[in-house]
Amino acid sequence: MGRRVLMEQFYDISHIEKKGTPYASAILSNSGTYLSTCHKCKSIKVNRSNKDLILVIEGKGELPDYLLCGQYPLFIISNKTLKMWQKYSVTGYDAFPIAGLINKDGEEIITDIRYFDIHITGRVKFDFNKMNVKIKYRCQKCGAVEYNKQVWQFGLAYVKQGSYDESDLFVAEYFETAPLCTEKILDIVYKENLTNFKFRTFESQFMFLNRPPAIDLQKHFRD
Ligand SMILES: [Zn+2]
Repeated sequence: MGRRVLMEQFYDISHIEKKGTPYASAILSNSGTYLSTCHKCKSIKVNRSNKDLILVIEGKGELPDYLLCGQYPLFIISNKTLKMWQKYSVTGYDAFPIAGLINKDGEEIITDIRYFDIHITGRVKFDFNKMNVKIKYRCQKCGAVEYNKQVWQFGLAYVKQGSYDESDLFVAEYFETAPLCTEKILDIVYKENLTNFKFRTFESQFMFLNRPPAIDLQKHFRD
């Protein structure tokens, strides 16, 4: 009897783009610049040593569990989300508390929601050979890379065999700001009604044109 080997399905995580939903339009820090520009290639990098981040919030309505960060794609989640990840023993991240929220006028926003800046520690690599992607240039100073084609021309994404460290949350080499996850994360969002999370299949993450629709969690878990 042959044994059917199912490869685990991976997903990419993004925000539901609903107009008016509160989001962070800027990141402030009292202990210096949080974002710095590489002198050599002009890439923008995050200075992870600053732990006193204040987020400037724009938009109206209820604060979401997954907060879009407009200035730089930080992975910002609510204390409810973090609690659920702890409950279900999610692996592959470190969480750092956000010090506070203010509005555009600089006034503190009073809310029960606490936010956390998530540093994803789980790793995977893309199979660039299979994707016909070549690295043309690599910055010696900051490690930023340039490819032989635009990211939106990458086509289907493939995992490099043996490169996945089995974390529930992970990022791919060279794409450290784009969170990826296993089915477990979708399950938690669905079961615990966490808001503003959107998932697509790992394979389709570079398909900006003719992109398949995001996963309908209701349907996904009902079937
Ligand atoms: Zn650089």
